[in-house]
Amino acid sequence: MDARLVSNLPFPRNYASELLQIERGRGVVLRDASGRTYLDLGAGIAVNALGYGRRDLARVAARQMRRLIHISNLYANAPAIELAELLIDVTRDRVGSFTAVQFGNSGAEANEAALKYARLYAHRTRGPGHHKILSMSNAFHGRTMGALSATPNKKYSEPFEPLVPDMLSSEYNNPDQLEAMLSDAYAGVIVEVVQGEGGLKIMSEGFAAKLNELCRMHDILLIADEVQTGLGRTGRLFGCEHVGLEPDIVTFSKPLAGGLPLSATMVPEKVNSVLNAGDHGTTFGGGPVTTAVAAHVIRTIADPEFLARVAARGRELTAMLDEIVASSPEVVERRGLGMLQGLVIAGDDAAAAARVAGIMDACRDRGVLLLRSSSNVIRIAPPLVIGGRDLARGIETLRTVLQ
Ligand code: PLP
Repeated sequence: MDARLVSNLPFPRNYASELLQIERGRGVVLRDASGRTYLDLGAGIAVNALGYGRRDLARVAARQMRRLIHISNLYANAPAIELAELLIDVTRDRVGSFTAVQFGNSGAEANEAALKYARLYAHRTRGPGHHKILSMSNAFHGRTMGALSATPNKKYSEPFEPLVPDMLSSEYNNPDQLEAMLSDAYAGVIVEVVQGEGGLKIMSEGFAAKLNELCRMHDILLIADEVQTGLGRTGRLFGCEHVGLEPDIVTFSKPLAGGLPLSATMVPEKVNSVLNAGDHGTTFGGGPVTTAVAAHVIRTIADPEFLARVAARGRELTAMLDEIVASSPEVVERRGLGMLQGLVIAGDDAAAAARVAGIMDACRDRGVLLLRSSSNVIRIAPPLVIGGRDLARGIETLRTVLQ
């Protein structure tokens, strides 16, 4: 039975004209308005790490909503303090040493804060003229003007030009080009360990080492965008851990508050020490409800047993996808890490893009929801709590469609 789609929606045309209307979810299964069910291998674009219908998340949110929903950053609130301390604690020894957390509401906003802090740090420590920002080919850092300016893909940015000036890009995983470009004219470099939206390529250890070395040498702030890779998605708590990346600033968002909008920009002491009151801020970021839920999410995910299960499931996914690569001529390559992996579909851009759309629709009509990354990669990013049998069933559906 084909999925029943709704159309003529009161949303801008930058969204698809026909969409599935999802009514509810339980575990890793979603139900649409007509009662049809779907196995979810997309998690609301790598957000719903703990799956759907979680009574624990609902309980934490409801209890906090009865106490206090919003108060602004003119006042402190206990859940935000607790979450900031927890984030500082779980990142220490794994990804870096941070002394403060700037909360926000989305991945783009977390990266905006990071880019602003990089420029501010360069300005206050070295004076004007050291403000350039470097991002990588095929990166995706968000759609606000600053984050978009660090997203060197014409598909996203062309109609909005001119973008923020002096934001340049360099080839991902090319240490020589990085070395040739970086100088003390730069304030920051922003990178992803797995390019979540840009085709799922992984950073090489050599490139990570070069980033560490050059950023330290020129006192350029190294920003790790862990909006998609962070908090367990790759089978480790942070993507940086896989390749030894040593960032000065890290950004988190997608899974942070269990599906509620929240982001965190991790601030090191050297940046914090040059900040003044009023340099940056937000009305909603770090509200008591989202931060209360996020503390619960992080405690759940950071549990070593939880992470070990995610890593094991990621290995199962790797094995299943490798089998598809070996047996399906139109699948060129497997990419990604842990529970953020994908298959590259053969063909030139337009043909591969059309084929990816066809595969995703066919899987949806068979009750399995997938994502895309770049134009030619089928992305699999299920809730981290997915069981082995459900994952195998979903990948089997994909394999059948590919045949
Ligand atoms: N950074 C990365 C790596 C992302 O994958 C995304 C979203 O897909 C963003 C930033 C932007 O996040 P948001 O859509 O919440 O602004």
